[in-house]
Amino acid sequence: MPKSKYRQEVAFLYRRATGIDLGGCAYCGFPRECLDHVPPLRIACDLDVQEFIKHGGRLLLYPSCAECNSFLGKRDLPAYGQRLAFLWERYGQLIRTKTWERWEIAELGPGLRPYIAARQKANARWIDKLRVVERRLIELDLQGRENPDQGSEAGFDGSAARIRAVG
Ligand SMILES: [Zn+2]
Repeated sequence: MPKSKYRQEVAFLYRRATGIDLGGCAYCGFPRECLDHVPPLRIACDLDVQEFIKHGGRLLLYPSCAECNSFLGKRDLPAYGQRLAFLWERYGQLIRTKTWERWEIAELGPGLRPYIAARQKANARWIDKLRVVERRLIELDLQGRENPDQGSEAGFDGSAARIRAVG
């Protein structure tokens, strides 16, 4: 079977995730803009998918915002919990502790002002996202599961340990 045809067939096996608030991005809670494949389609294509599903593995679609989705990109993070943990680190790295006061921005040159203002706005967004990602990581850890839809025995080894390490 041609690779693209197989990829299409695997993509068709994905189902909407349940057991999580799907009103917004399943990671950061911001408005949903796309669907995230968990595990990523590329990884699923490397698996014996029928065997994977037979053993309780799930191919799930999580609503996602474009920002979380692009940060996750093609990373080798098969489980939802691993993806949350990665985003927790990513947003944490982006956040700057310096908060510019209005008068400080006013004193900047006109070329710099919009840049700092935009940066400040993004910073506030990342802080909001980090809070939600962190809350979801903790909830997932409390449940002792790596995907909301499945028991820990059904997924990938190691992700539960990783969640504990960052939480
Ligand atoms: Zn998001």
